[in-house]
Amino acid sequence: MQPRVAVVGSGPAGVYAAEALIRYAGEVSVDVLDALPAPFGLVRYAVAPDHPRTQSISESLATVLDHPGVRFLGNVRVGADISIDELLEHYDAVVIAVGAATDRRMGIPGEDLPGSVSATDLVAWYCGNPDVDPGRFVLDASSVAVVGAGNVAGDIARMLARSAGELAATDAPDHILAAFAASSVRDIHLIARRGPAQSRFTTRELRELGDLELADLLVDPADLELDAHSAEVVSSSSAARRNVEVLRGWVGQAETRLDRRIHLRFFQRPVEVLGTDRVEAIRLERTRLDVDGEVHGTGDIVDLPVQMVVRAVGYRSLPLDGLPFDEGSGVVPHLNGRVHRDGVVMPGLYVAGWAKRGPTGVIGTNKHDARETVRSLMDDLPALPRAAADSPDAVVQLLESRGVDVVSWAGWRAIDLAEVEAGRRQGRPRAKISDRAALLRIAAGEG
Ligand code: NAP
Repeated sequence: MQPRVAVVGSGPAGVYAAEALIRYAGEVSVDVLDALPAPFGLVRYAVAPDHPRTQSISESLATVLDHPGVRFLGNVRVGADISIDELLEHYDAVVIAVGAATDRRMGIPGEDLPGSVSATDLVAWYCGNPDVDPGRFVLDASSVAVVGAGNVAGDIARMLARSAGELAATDAPDHILAAFAASSVRDIHLIARRGPAQSRFTTRELRELGDLELADLLVDPADLELDAHSAEVVSSSSAARRNVEVLRGWVGQAETRLDRRIHLRFFQRPVEVLGTDRVEAIRLERTRLDVDGEVHGTGDIVDLPVQMVVRAVGYRSLPLDGLPFDEGSGVVPHLNGRVHRDGVVMPGLYVAGWAKRGPTGVIGTNKHDARETVRSLMDDLPALPRAAADSPDAVVQLLESRGVDVVSWAGWRAIDLAEVEAGRRQGRPRAKISDRAALLRIAAGEG
């Protein structure tokens, strides 16, 4: 019987691992499990709706899940519906590719006040993740602080600044389009604790902020004067140089008094979120960098009135029952993708993607990463103990006996069709369905 591998997670890391398995391991059958009824992980549930080109990566991921050697098992929560140990009884090897499901915190007072939210939640909401209550956010703030100078912060600032017209052509669920159309947001403050040279925006994403229909971009020229460390960064990194050039191009642009404004605020670190019943302001301290690029507070404090604070200061993986987890680095400890506990390799267990290396890199980075993991798996496969269960259907039967409505690839295809059809009626490419019960009904052919 051919070897059977389970891949946990159907985002880019998981699907690229499945692709590497069918391409290089020859006769192997791969089950790709996902906690959500729909596949593609962050491509579906974290790529901003106004980025259709990045979203279209799902088409190439779909060709892998469509392969006869690969089976999609959606709506299966590993750790709750089935344990890792049980997976190891049904499969010769298990690849964990669950990404980074939660956010890092700022660690400042007031962070948990109503109106202070994580990028993870906000992004999942506007991408139609069924685990987020559709009413979770009301965009009734007029001023919002988005903390962070990475692409997630940039995505959020851009989305909040978009006009209803710009969003109308996206695949966002209907209730999200309605929430953005009713938005009161007028001022978006992007808060970076270091300077423009140290920002983590990719230049294309940064440039996009300048192309919005409704929003002026405001940047303080004083923030663009390079200190010793920033000058060094700019001379050694073309990405940093390009970012600084883009920002310089925006200086002095007359404010056209468009409807919305994005304020780029560098060298400001949040020290407290202020408010009684909800966020009323964010307290910022001016920073400076020393010659090594370390951030130091200057004691120069300002309270910026805002009614919403979004922390976009990085993602973080969550521990999974039965798997070791390094709390310090927030990843599953591994050696070339082989999971280990205190240096002892756990036979048959592998990890790929953000759960392996942390939340860095672009989607394509996961291809190389997954191949490294699959190479380790293939090297080990001949010596791994064979799975006890003898039928590929045994795992599905076990899940169904526990009341799990497993979504098959045909089930996802039915959801896909329903969304595309709903979008077509509104003149857009797709209208995402975010209600889990509705997704399951459609997948079961009862839609
Ligand atoms: P990121 O690129 O690591 O950026 C995190 C930002 O948060 C940094 O500017 C960091 O500043 C700041 N930060 C961290 N802790 C902070 C604190 N306590 N107070 C204030 N600021 C703090 O992370 P990300 O934006 O979450 O993105 C994750 C990955 O996904 C990246 O590889 C990104 O490129 C990718 N991504 C790509 C796209 C796209 O291509 N459109 C979209 C979304 C995400 P310091 O540098 O000072 O630490």
